[in-house]
Amino acid sequence: MKCPVCNHPDSRVIDSRSVEENASIKRRRECPACGRRFTTYEVVDTVAIAVVKRDGRREFFDSHKLILGIERACQKRPVNAAEVARDIETELQNALVSEITSQDIGELVLSRLRDIDIVSYIRFASVYREFQDIDSFMNEIKSLGRRGRRRVSDKPTNADK
Ligand SMILES: [Zn+2]
Repeated sequence: MKCPVCNHPDSRVIDSRSVEENASIKRRRECPACGRRFTTYEVVDTVAIAVVKRDGRREFFDSHKLILGIERACQKRPVNAAEVARDIETELQNALVSEITSQDIGELVLSRLRDIDIVSYIRFASVYREFQDIDSFMNEIKSLGRRGRRRVSDKPTNADK
């Protein structure tokens, strides 16, 4: 960071703290050349993510919309929709994803709901995957059953102790 007083190309950070309200970092800096102190606010640069919908239309990723979609499937279930949505947005930001299909977002939600609450998972899957018929729905349930049994048998149960 260039010194605003003498234009010295470097400055020393003497204090750094996050400013919660606007997700920025406040830094006290000191110029090693002229000794002046000044403050900078650094903001994390978030990238707008384009979502490609089923019909080919694009819109910007909207976490509020995602939260509403998750909440619809998770009514009265122990799922924090805002947390799931934030988690997914952070993952996309960290992976520097600039474009994603709505189906892929749906799969990201499902992969989380599967671990949090199976009822919400089924409800969300029935909307997002648009099960064509009762057979594909039953296959999904069966695959969950297999996964569940495997997970249970991996862990020692109380009866084994
Ligand atoms: Zn200076």
